[in-house]
Amino acid sequence: MTSLSDVSRPVRLGTWPTPLEPMPRLAESLGLGAEDLWIKRDDLVGLGGGGNKIRKLEWLCGAAVAEGATHLVTTGAPQSNHARLTAAAGARLGLETVLVLAGTPDIAAQGNLALDALFGATCVWAGAVDGPALTAAAEEVASRLRAEGALPAVIPFGGSSALGARGYASCGHELLMQDPGLDTVVVAVGSGGTMAGLVHALGARRVLGVHCGAVSDPAGAVATLASELSGAPLAPDSLRLRMDQVGESYSTLAAPVMDAMNRTARSEGIALDPVYTGRAVAGLIAAVADGDITPGRRTVFLHTGGLPGLFGHSGALEATAADLASRSLTP
Ligand SMILES: *Cc1c(COP(=O)(O)O)cnc(C)c1O
Repeated sequence: MTSLSDVSRPVRLGTWPTPLEPMPRLAESLGLGAEDLWIKRDDLVGLGGGGNKIRKLEWLCGAAVAEGATHLVTTGAPQSNHARLTAAAGARLGLETVLVLAGTPDIAAQGNLALDALFGATCVWAGAVDGPALTAAAEEVASRLRAEGALPAVIPFGGSSALGARGYASCGHELLMQDPGLDTVVVAVGSGGTMAGLVHALGARRVLGVHCGAVSDPAGAVATLASELSGAPLAPDSLRLRMDQVGESYSTLAAPVMDAMNRTARSEGIALDPVYTGRAVAGLIAAVADGDITPGRRTVFLHTGGLPGLFGHSGALEATAADLASRSLTP
């Protein structure tokens, strides 16, 4: 079986370093100083519409290419940014991409799915399954491909293995070069590899994760990956992790998240997505309100991408349509 763990040279997929820019108007609207809040633009990595999965895929695809893979196989929700960026990486590297998605083929091909199609990915619909069943379905697809003489590389859910998380250890080092005095990096947490890599590079105290509802035990997931990276155990309760921004479920939109999306867009001209980055900024706003983030210190929001998901999220599109209607002038 193809293992991605023992080869460790990344391929280049993105454009580095990503910019670090101030957000003075959002900062002042939150009661912070104009210089206190910055944004790290990992939405601008270049390939495939951008986003945090590219740094992980540089390592994971590096291993796949070194092992002579013909196919990339990965899993996700229908609106998975990771699936979309794996398809883009496959296209860039000349590999076939197979996406094993939790859902049924009647789901509208909007948002990320439209881009999956554009990048030429093949979708396998696994039905309404849980995480372990989705992983099993991907292994089955990989076995079938092997039986046909192909060499598939299975990329883990969200690109989150210790190997993939190395991409965010590098991001942490890149951030320290850009701003040696940074106090706190705020990041959305899905499968956990992004936060784990940052914790490895910056230490647990400087990383504030905001759980987005993609996994049941985010602290455990991040701590396991960070421990694998460093070779030393990390206690889950040493992590700074906010659990208060999920709302009803992973796919629903809570009012504070829509508010964070509106505030960021209207003060800085920067668009967030309703699943990850909207929740991360909602968590940042809550952290300022309860004193976990304070004026006079440098806070960096890591923009992890995800904008295509806005165009495949019915709740967010209904909210923006209603908002637009409420502000329309009659001629
Ligand atoms: C996947 C994703 C995250 C979460 O990253 P993990 O490493 O899975 O925790 C955050 N933001 C966006 C836009 C994502 O697509």
